[in-house]
Amino acid sequence: TTEIYTLSLHDALPISNLTVESPNVSYTDDCITSEYNYQRAQTRIENDRIVATPVTTSYSFKTNRKVPKLGVMLIGLAGNNGSTVVGGVIANREGISWETKEGPQTPNYYGSITQSSTVRIGSDANGEDTYIPLKALLPMVEMNDLVIGGWDINNMNLADAMERAKVFDYDLQRQLKPFMKDIVPLPSIYDEDFVAANQKARANHCLEGTKQEMLNTIRQNMRDFKEQNGCDSLVILWSANTERFAEIVTGLNDTAENLLASIEKNESEISPSTLFAVASILEGHTYINGSPQNTFVPGAIELAESKNVFIGGDDFKTGQTKMKSVMVDWLIAAGLKPTSIVSYNHLGNNDGKNLSAPKQFRSKEVSKSNVVDDMVASNPILYQEGEHPDHVIVIKYVPYVGDSKRAMDEYTSEIFMHGRNTISMHNTCEDSLLAAPIILDLLVLSELISRITYKTGEMEEYERFHPILSILSYLLKAPLVPSSAPVVNALFKQRACIENILKACVGLPPENDMGLEHRTNYSFKKIGRASCRERV
Ligand code: NAD
Repeated sequence: TTEIYTLSLHDALPISNLTVESPNVSYTDDCITSEYNYQRAQTRIENDRIVATPVTTSYSFKTNRKVPKLGVMLIGLAGNNGSTVVGGVIANREGISWETKEGPQTPNYYGSITQSSTVRIGSDANGEDTYIPLKALLPMVEMNDLVIGGWDINNMNLADAMERAKVFDYDLQRQLKPFMKDIVPLPSIYDEDFVAANQKARANHCLEGTKQEMLNTIRQNMRDFKEQNGCDSLVILWSANTERFAEIVTGLNDTAENLLASIEKNESEISPSTLFAVASILEGHTYINGSPQNTFVPGAIELAESKNVFIGGDDFKTGQTKMKSVMVDWLIAAGLKPTSIVSYNHLGNNDGKNLSAPKQFRSKEVSKSNVVDDMVASNPILYQEGEHPDHVIVIKYVPYVGDSKRAMDEYTSEIFMHGRNTISMHNTCEDSLLAAPIILDLLVLSELISRITYKTGEMEEYERFHPILSILSYLLKAPLVPSSAPVVNALFKQRACIENILKACVGLPPENDMGLEHRTNYSFKKIGRASCRERV
């Protein structure tokens, strides 16, 4: 059953079972099939005018309703994110509440769009909107049921890793410890050339051998984990330290064939994260890159495409960048012209320590830099071709603040008649408490997408979505997209993409926000409702 919440005057009333009654939607025990008309407009320039032609494409979406037992393997399991994800899931699953100076607290999945956000699916006969949790649109894996394991170059068990992370309150840590003390990461692939030199002391749990041998070992780890835990499928996710960018070299990593041959030849320029991605693709498991480095060198992308295995990246979109992809979208959509964006942050966790090295900082700087490009390019009234706001990113390591990252942003915009507006903001937040629900959403959504297939009129068979999971862009700072697709950074467009695709799979229309039923006399008469809200 599915819980539906009708939000009325801020009261959530749980009722069950979302059924879409439509000749275009059918349910069997195995799948939900929806016949769906996708509408868009095709544009062209003809002499001195733009011509737009509405186009409708018929899609058939089929969603497998059988939710698998999902295994998750994190690279960087003993890190702040890794231990926070594991502890958060256990606290939710076991219903652990804990004492703080503000009183008792209970676990939740706040920050996860699948678990803690709602979508409007329509309105009732009184014109009241009906909302359901996003996760109720289609059958999804329950986060509490995830089986989580993985690798780390540090051998700490997860109870001690959680203590080292200093993210959770003491009383919660105390209660989580018995559940976490026996979880020990598998040894991982360490290459001091790719992470900062300051990580060396942490690297006490490393695989030995050639790249090919280590690749074989982690492939075997995946098979063992799947089998030992009775999982139906796995998702592999990188939440380890940020690496420097790998060089793209012709003959080395530019094609799938060259990449595999280079691994066999033990070439030095193949990063640990690329080895994990290749292992995952060869095993047929979805691979997500939560850090900014270019794990997906052209050869890795080609490999994923040729094997039709899902990949997603890069870099979790958690705080400052998320805010930026709202602020700049809003400013430019309001007809204001951001001319200078300066983002400064300092943090004191191990991620910050690693990023204090120039090459690793550079990976983060690149990932944070392009996030306003699509919004700037969308408005030639404000920006000439090639014009761009000044955009500066600074990250400093300040050990004392630990995981509690401070972000300061200044947005200066040109406004009416050459006036200037400067907006400054200050944001303090535990970094890993922002990242953990995003990691969990990436896992649950990428698994769901693997159960959806589609067919258009010209296709004989149902197919999976494109192997590059650009649908996940909402959760990622520098979204990886197929070469022919535009990168979308604007946050609400990214969210609408997820919401509307899931709705299409159950035959519901996309949210168009027109609300014609409230704006025309005709619809009021039809639903027999006065123009003022009686209930208010
Ligand atoms: P962390 O340093 O606490 O954890 C990273 C873990 O990875 C460490 O335990 C380290 O020992 C391990 N590690 C390093 N290299 C490894 C390898 N080759 N194989 C296996 N394990 C390895 O960092 P964190 O705060 O958990 O962040 C993890 C990653 O997520 C970083 O790259 C960070 O940039 C990225 N990220 C974090 C956020 C956030 O809000 N927390 C947002 C975006 C991206």
